[in-house]
Amino acid sequence: MKCVVCGSELAENAVLCPKCGSVVRREDVVRQQAAGRQLSKKEFYDLPGMKSLRNNIKSCAVVLYLCAGITVVMGILEWSQNSALADGLAMQIITSVPPSFFSSIVSVIIGFLIRFDRIIAAALLVGLGVWVQLGKSRVASLLVLIYGSYSMIMGSLNAGRLQGWWIPVIGGFAVFYTFKFNKLWGQYRRSGTLPEGALGEK
Ligand SMILES: [Zn+2]
Repeated sequence: MKCVVCGSELAENAVLCPKCGSVVRREDVVRQQAAGRQLSKKEFYDLPGMKSLRNNIKSCAVVLYLCAGITVVMGILEWSQNSALADGLAMQIITSVPPSFFSSIVSVIIGFLIRFDRIIAAALLVGLGVWVQLGKSRVASLLVLIYGSYSMIMGSLNAGRLQGWWIPVIGGFAVFYTFKFNKLWGQYRRSGTLPEGALGEK
């Protein structure tokens, strides 16, 4: 790190240049680090010019958390209905096959999946949301899109009307923004030049 006024070498976290006394601006530090390809992915993501991208990715995750909350509420509302279904299926398994260790394990697993299907789906949404938000992950975004589309189609066929369309829509936005971020990050890694406006200047 060099002083932008007099060019003398500065200590890592210097606030003032010991030679000429000029204030070391954070922006100059970042610019020099950036030119040396020294920014980490996190530092790159935190640049002032990335603010709208950050907000968009965060918004996708927040909507996924909201969807997870709604899914939990649905699970609670359906609890007694699903418990009855699970008990019925368990009874069917027990009466139709000879009792064994294997058949009792299967009936316990099926019962668990039927009772907790909404909770499992909600946990999946939260997990993907965190992965999108913290990892800026293209894979997580694609999974939201694929999982969301799948559950939208299955749910809509089941209900006879369009259901759960917001999750694939959010997945689409998440794919767009995470691919955009990773493209900018890749360009910076290759060229060492920051995207225009990344430091926030006009
Ligand atoms: Zn200086």
